[in-house]
Amino acid sequence: EISIQNLTKSFGEQVVLNNLNLELADIHSLAIIGPSGGGKSTLLRILAGLEIPQEGKITINSEPLNFDYKSLQSYRKGIGVVFQAFNLFPHLTALQNITLPLEKVHGLSLKEAGARASELLDRFQLGEHMHKRPHQLSGGQQQRVAIVRAIALQAKFMLLDEPTSALDPILTSEVLDSIKELKEEKKDLILVTHEMGFARNVADHLIFVDKGTIIEQGHPKELFENPQSEELKSFLGKTL
Ligand code: ATP
Ligand code: MG
Repeated sequence: EISIQNLTKSFGEQVVLNNLNLELADIHSLAIIGPSGGGKSTLLRILAGLEIPQEGKITINSEPLNFDYKSLQSYRKGIGVVFQAFNLFPHLTALQNITLPLEKVHGLSLKEAGARASELLDRFQLGEHMHKRPHQLSGGQQQRVAIVRAIALQAKFMLLDEPTSALDPILTSEVLDSIKELKEEKKDLILVTHEMGFARNVADHLIFVDKGTIIEQGHPKELFENPQSEELKSFLGKTL
């Protein structure tokens, strides 16, 4: 469940999110689509507690998101974030990339962290790569490590920003399969994606964001088959 009221975010003079509103109940996977520069990543970064809006109220699963430093710090621990530029630590192995935050942020022992990490690495077909550093992994493997890291933190929900944009079609389908697996595990997720087919298959709800606001929203099938706004029609015309 998510509620966003009058969300406004500017960078200097530029209004990037303009009085955006969203009320969703019983939605477990939300996809965000829209043209470049429309404000998708900014919205996701705010939901991740990484950016502070000028105005607006956000409530997620009945908990208000407070933007003071202390609240944000503890809030961030509870969510998993996967961004388009893989944010793995370059000097750590795949395994250490997962265990380190478990130890440092969540206070697990090395043994507990290692057990949780290696089980997940196996599940995502990364077991044989766990002692490699990011530069020794393919793009799709790196992205899967980032996803595993987010899952290992047992986040309440996951935010993914174009997790496949840097990947070729084969690696893309690998990562999309991993995301489907998240959904099968009943993890709530919010995903910004350019993969229209994937948005259609995986999302319970789709929002089309353009010029800092939600132009149209609904069930993906409905939106793709019967877009109402000129903006969405033209966007779909260009991407499909
Ligand atoms: P894309 O599909 O290209 O990723 P997007 O919808 O994710 O686009 P955002 O990254 O949210 O777009 O950016 C929206 C607008 O806000 C852009 O015009 C961008 O230049 C601007 N912007 C984003 N972050 C900042 C920042 N930290 N400082 C200044 N301007 C910013
Ligand atoms: Mg973006």
